Amino acid sequence: MALPQPRPGIMDIAIYEPGKSQVKGPARVVKLSSNEAALGPSPKAVAALAASLGESHRYPAGDSGELRAALGAAHTLDPARIVCGAGSDELLGLVMRGFAGVGDEIIHTAHGFAMYNIYAKSVGATPVIAPEKNLTTDVDAILARVTPKTRIVFVANPNNPTGTYIPGAEVRRLRAGLREDIVLVCDDAYAEYVEAPDYESGFALAGETENTIALRTFSKIYGLASVRLGWGFASAHIIGVMERIRSPFNVSRPAQVAGLAALADKDHMALTKAHTKKWRDIALQRLRGLGLKVGDSHGNFLLPEFPMVPGKTAAECDAFLQEHGVIIRRVDSYGLPNYLRITIGDDEEMAIVLDTLAAFMERT
Ligand code: PMP
Repeated sequence: MALPQPRPGIMDIAIYEPGKSQVKGPARVVKLSSNEAALGPSPKAVAALAASLGESHRYPAGDSGELRAALGAAHTLDPARIVCGAGSDELLGLVMRGFAGVGDEIIHTAHGFAMYNIYAKSVGATPVIAPEKNLTTDVDAILARVTPKTRIVFVANPNNPTGTYIPGAEVRRLRAGLREDIVLVCDDAYAEYVEAPDYESGFALAGETENTIALRTFSKIYGLASVRLGWGFASAHIIGVMERIRSPFNVSRPAQVAGLAALADKDHMALTKAHTKKWRDIALQRLRGLGLKVGDSHGNFLLPEFPMVPGKTAAECDAFLQEHGVIIRRVDSYGLPNYLRITIGDDEEMAIVLDTLAAFMERT
């Protein structure tokens, strides 16, 4: 039987594997596998969500207008140059569909977020992979891979799963070295967690240039991964392209109202940030104390490297943690088979994951 054939590239896609959410056996499960917020959503966002449910028969605002106005006010950006999406994932897909197609190339870094590669293949474009240096975006390696076919460059800053970032000056050097017709996507999903003084979110560059988009999400520090809400800031030209191809009601009412309430609850965000930093530092020291190599992370997760010693490998640690009800993220599909990504959780979750990791490392 002749089967309907998908477009070129689609069958080359390795289906995205989300962080596991369940394991069989243990009654209590500690889920630290998807870089979700340690303290959950703002109670004000939860109340807004609940209050919105009675309006479920109504279509939401198609332009997310109120939310865009609030985002513009909060970040001093022109709301007309903001686009909202069902997670920043949707916006990554829109940039891809808007600017790349069959025969084009896009560039992402070796351990860059998985969806760049998947969306590239979904439109028939070729993902070109730029190696990293010390698990960090290497601007020169990206620039060296630009060809006349390059259409988009994706840089997660900080990157998931490595947790590393490049300073604002490096992002600007990258932009300056790219042709003007190449879109630079600054995927700043973890920007709110960064404290490094030389870090610069993509907003300024997106404001100054016609060809750069900065993406943000409510899934990370705002704790709203489930409602699917992300947004982007770019030139009128880029926004105009994305507006033409997005679904008319791509952001649900619950997402819009929860986003508005979360944005207004600065205390909750500050609490989440302080909590995450505190435990990131504690966990870093503890993991290093156990003899693991761990780099500094600028996101809400850590990426320890495990030795290739039988009994102590990342795969064995993952199995041990699962037996004890702790789910973290294997990152083999990111080309990092000797590493595990651990999201920072709440106090109790952190005590459990660190004690379980210690039990694994100390077992003979
Ligand atoms: N970019 C990066 C770097 C991410 O880690 C993630 C989430 N894992 C996303 C984008 C997508 O986030 P969302 O669609 O939930 O906004």
